[in-house]
Amino acid sequence: MGDLPTRADVVIIGGGAVGASTAFHLATGGVPDVVLLERETLASGSTSRSAGGARLQFADELNVGLSLRSLDEFERWDALIGEHVEFVPGIAFHQHGYLFLLEPLMARSRVAEATVPAREATLERRRVLVGQRARLTEELAAVDARLETESARVLRGPTPPLAASELQKLVKDLLARGNVEVRSERVLPAADQQGLQEVPIEMTIVGSIGDLVTAISHFERADRLLALKDVKIRVVAPGQPREVTTTLTVAGYLLPGGESSKSKIKPTGKEDD
Ligand SMILES: Cc1cc2nc3c(=O)[nH]c(=O)nc-3n(C[C@H](O)[C@H](O)[C@H](O)COP(=O)(O)OP(=O)(O)OC[C@H]3O[C@@H](n4cnc5c(N)ncnc54)[C@H](O)[C@@H]3O)c2cc1C
Repeated sequence: MGDLPTRADVVIIGGGAVGASTAFHLATGGVPDVVLLERETLASGSTSRSAGGARLQFADELNVGLSLRSLDEFERWDALIGEHVEFVPGIAFHQHGYLFLLEPLMARSRVAEATVPAREATLERRRVLVGQRARLTEELAAVDARLETESARVLRGPTPPLAASELQKLVKDLLARGNVEVRSERVLPAADQQGLQEVPIEMTIVGSIGDLVTAISHFERADRLLALKDVKIRVVAPGQPREVTTTLTVAGYLLPGGESSKSKIKPTGKEDD
């Protein structure tokens, strides 16, 4: 710092390409006292990282003008610098042209452009959904409430055989109220039914048609959700047409997931006592 001059006509701060060039042109242009201050070393900033290309494609005229001027100076480098200093630092200046590879960018932008309609459609669907939020929330709450009620009406299980046994007992109790006699019963294979496990049983009963109808009418009011899947009626004795043999297929429902479904089932009805 001690060697710095105490006064100067022009002080330039920063010894990169711009500062150095300004100092050079001022000094060679006749300004006697030019001082260039650099805090690190000359060209320690962007200048030393530059690829060294000089191009003419710019968005504004000034940049194009600067580039053209620098081309002119690089072409005359040795003479231009040699006129003022003994040692001319060499530069490797080759004019091969400047190549921009834009194809991948354009291809990417074409791909992005092609997705615009689909993305706009998705956006529109989301807008519509957001607009329906209040109604959907209300509907969801109603479905939740219904699910809660229906969950309470599924069989306890937790496995299909245990659920079938519970169903057999329940159906026999209901049929007994209708005054019909159960002759035989069997468990049919369980099947998946829209997320629930359907547990069907088959029962053969004997009684009058009136008693049969009364018995079946109790199914609707049962604590558990029951579906009458099939009814086959046969007349036992032609001389006594009022007495019929009926084979019923009745199904109950079980939440999938065995043990985990237990927590969703609320105890209902007298079997739970
Ligand atoms: C990776 C890369 C590639 C590039 N490729 C090209 C190319 O191909 N063609 C092209 O034309 N341009 C290119 N550039 C841009 C070009 O390098 C810069 O535009 C140019 O070097 C800027 O010069 P400068 O003197 O303004 O800045 P710099 O070179 O950054 O110089 C600034 C100087 O000021 C000094 N300084 C800062 N503050 C103070 C202070 N308070 N006191 C003292 N000294 C200070 C710094 O230490 C530094 O040395 C490229 C740039 C980068 C980074």
